[in-house]
Amino acid sequence: MENQEILKLLKLNVKLLELHDENQFKVRAYQSAIFSLDKYNIALKGLSISALEKLPNVGKGIAAAINEMVTRGTFQELEKFLSITPPGVVEMLSIKGIGPKKIRGIWQDLGVLELESLKQACVDGTITKVKGIGEKLQEEILEFLAFKEASKGKSFYSDIEEIAIKIEKELQHIFGNENAILVGEVRRMMEIVETVQYIVAANNEIETFAKLNNLLFLEQDEKLSSPFVWRGSIASSQIKVEIKIYNADKYASQVYSHSAGKKHLSQNLSYFELPAISLFSYLKSNSFATEKDIFEALNWPQIPPESREGMFEFEAVKSGSFPILLQDQDLKGIFHNHSTYSDGEHTLEEMATYCRDLGYEYLGISDHSKTANYARGLYENDIAKQQKEIDELNIKLAPFKIFKGIESDILGDGSLDYEENVLKSFDFIVASIHANLKMDIDKATTRLIKAIENPYTTMLGHPTGRLLLRRQGYPINHAKIIEACAANGVIVEINANPWRLDLDWRWVNYAVKKGVMLSINPDAHEMAGYLDMHYGVCVGRKGGLPKEMTFNALSLIEVEVYLKAKRSVIANSGAH
Ligand SMILES: [Zn+2]
Ligand SMILES: [Zn+2]
Repeated sequence: MENQEILKLLKLNVKLLELHDENQFKVRAYQSAIFSLDKYNIALKGLSISALEKLPNVGKGIAAAINEMVTRGTFQELEKFLSITPPGVVEMLSIKGIGPKKIRGIWQDLGVLELESLKQACVDGTITKVKGIGEKLQEEILEFLAFKEASKGKSFYSDIEEIAIKIEKELQHIFGNENAILVGEVRRMMEIVETVQYIVAANNEIETFAKLNNLLFLEQDEKLSSPFVWRGSIASSQIKVEIKIYNADKYASQVYSHSAGKKHLSQNLSYFELPAISLFSYLKSNSFATEKDIFEALNWPQIPPESREGMFEFEAVKSGSFPILLQDQDLKGIFHNHSTYSDGEHTLEEMATYCRDLGYEYLGISDHSKTANYARGLYENDIAKQQKEIDELNIKLAPFKIFKGIESDILGDGSLDYEENVLKSFDFIVASIHANLKMDIDKATTRLIKAIENPYTTMLGHPTGRLLLRRQGYPINHAKIIEACAANGVIVEINANPWRLDLDWRWVNYAVKKGVMLSINPDAHEMAGYLDMHYGVCVGRKGGLPKEMTFNALSLIEVEVYLKAKRSVIANSGAH
């Protein structure tokens, strides 16, 4: 069990203690333990009980609880409180902005036991009878519930990719490589997946169903299935699976239709001086042996499934220069990473050594800036200390190089977080918004543009601040932001954390067209975080991103030249 998970359960326990109005001293003891443990970067799972007891603010009881969690994933006290709390009330504890005391009121005064009746109480206004809950909170709860409802049954691409491919291999093993394939949202590398889809070529659906039902890792839902469509889920999960069966002569057309977005399929072929029907109708009325044959018949280069979204591909095909899209192995370095100087799990040296060992040429470290105190943002003296360590490591690890950076908060008025003499000391600056997220589109766009116009800003971090399936980002005028980045020579990050994927792929081509470079940044808070860059590459490929427009596909020397040039512009313009 990792520290994060241990902390999560401790935090849940505190909420339950408060919900049940337990002893305040006990609550405070847990809170101060959590506060200390949050700053602690060594794996708790490796410590003995006596070592745990010696940690600041961790007494005998909490040390025992941690030890219990490490061995069996939970602890007695938590189990006790969970057993006397309705599951719906436990769910309510995760609503942001509403504390356990108010939840207690909702539960005990109104008798609300699950989210559905909570929604009802918000709609009819009875919720405001609970002490401390006014109309504003009533609205926020409704917003939370609506978002939760919309996220139901959906998964992050990163949680599905591996298992979906594994199942594809199994199906190909049974039905033959040419007769079974992964299609749908996963093949298109969509950021969110609702259903994992496959197509199988077969003549006898009863036989095919029998073979599918023999597979231990699939569970059929007979009620949802129909004669040619097997529906069910991945065993012991909520992940929906759909397997469609077609005759061999329809197979390739169906594979194509199921591996492309609506906008792509509705493209009229007259654009290519072909008969004036949609691509979808064309596929429906013709037979092909393989997808490759379809492209040959249309006289198109092969458009990868993830790029079949009607965003850039047809224009590229028509112009006769379909881009060579970015691939994982094109990336030469990694920007936007955190270390233990702020809220990362691993030290600067660990982050750098691992980056080098993975074969990259450089690392851009950018811990949080001082305003982000929830993430232990760096004060001026921390920065000096970190930069000194970077200088030492750069000698030790040469020719590998660490670039000195910061993820500067964009303050309310759009300015960066430090004075100019500090800003000057960085090789690069990622500018991001982390606080005061409630803004209308004009306010958010103006705030971002002010930061983009700051000559010290190298990259724009996670442009909308969204967290997929959890929180909508603040609204921004993407076109204006991208144009401002073009005008000011600012790189836009594709934050590759699979929960963010921000810049959204729907805007990648616009940026490329405007000449804005994109950087695939993992926003890694631990060494393993680097592996997330793959999801950023998926986003880039969906939007038509070529290697030439990807900042971290540049070599070390090219990056050095780029960053120096950006700085010399400041010197020459005599910026204040
Ligand atoms: Zn950030
Ligand atoms: Zn970050």
